[in-house]
Amino acid sequence: MKKSGPVAIIGAGLSGLSCAQSLHAAGIEVRVFESSPVVGGRCATRLWQGHLVDLGVQYFTAQSTEFKKELLNRLRQFRPIISPILDRDDKVVTSEAGPRFYVLQGNNYFAHVLSHGLDLRVNTPVESLSFSSTGVDCLGGTYRAVVSSLPSPLSARLLGLSKPSVEYDSCLTALLEYTGSGVGNSRQSYARLLPEDQAPLMASYCENNKVGRIIGDKTVFVVHASPRFSREHASSPPEKYLPLLARANEQLWHIPEGQLTASFGHRWTYARPLDLKPRSVSLPKGAFVCGDSHADSTVESVWLDGRQTAKDVLTYLSG
Ligand SMILES: Cc1cc2nc3c(=O)[nH]c(=O)nc-3n(C[C@H](O)[C@H](O)[C@H](O)COP(=O)(O)OP(=O)(O)OC[C@H]3O[C@@H](n4cnc5c(N)ncnc54)[C@H](O)[C@@H]3O)c2cc1C
Repeated sequence: MKKSGPVAIIGAGLSGLSCAQSLHAAGIEVRVFESSPVVGGRCATRLWQGHLVDLGVQYFTAQSTEFKKELLNRLRQFRPIISPILDRDDKVVTSEAGPRFYVLQGNNYFAHVLSHGLDLRVNTPVESLSFSSTGVDCLGGTYRAVVSSLPSPLSARLLGLSKPSVEYDSCLTALLEYTGSGVGNSRQSYARLLPEDQAPLMASYCENNKVGRIIGDKTVFVVHASPRFSREHASSPPEKYLPLLARANEQLWHIPEGQLTASFGHRWTYARPLDLKPRSVSLPKGAFVCGDSHADSTVESVWLDGRQTAKDVLTYLSG
């Protein structure tokens, strides 16, 4: 394997960016390849009619000292969500991991901050890699090592593994808006979580409870469909499933029927790992994986996993 040259990071979600920043800070040349035009992956925020709306990650926790330090160093504008999250029976869902935070400029802003100073190639999907004794070939360049931060089925395909370490559930997401005055009980709690078998909704978040995000008189919800509903509507067009999600959300928040308008939907094909205990897989020499293919599927866990993977890469490079 080559002793000098850059390390390739595939994917600019939070785990890939955390890994890339750690290697960069250790003096290693890194190049980050991202298939989409923006960084952040499932930590996605959309600017919609002047409102900032989180479509993937809704909030994050900060249990570890390392992560807290990172947030304080890189992000000053992160705020606690004060309003409670309720379950189906109106009981408060407490977080064992402590307070829930959001970023004023949109949760995706954390990914932007993490990408500063990196050699980042957006709109650049990596579809194949080839491993040899001289290094890893990726898009015409040779790298000392490669880190895939993609959801496990995509990493498995890229790295030529027979099986992913874990399979993923998909999730249909919708943005719903309401301009009237009968906002139901949406100002008393930030979110409602439902048991997964209760199709169509699994979670509904009222973005107005993230202070500073929604302008004017609008009430804006982001809803996540249940895994069952998401599977059943995997190939439905948005006009078919959006009204069903809107009606379910009206009932959940006691909003008069027919008042919510669904503005758009988004399909997360690889939303969350299905298994809590992923199996270990053996990787080609010089290849590493990070993210929720083997860490918990939370912002804090994948950020920490990116850091740990960077340490593993450094050990490998010094060996
Ligand atoms: C709907 C939803 C809600 C969530 N809510 C929360 C929450 O409230 N709190 C929380 O802590 N966690 C939440 N999560 C989980 C959290 O989003 C993930 O655990 C975390 O963002 C995963 O980050 P990652 O970097 O590992 O992967 P990703 O964010 O998936 O990043 C992978 C990146 O790789 C890119 N990519 C894919 N294929 C290629 C390719 N071939 N070449 C190059 N690039 C490629 C993708 O575009 C993406 O940017 C939620 C997830 C979803 C889907």
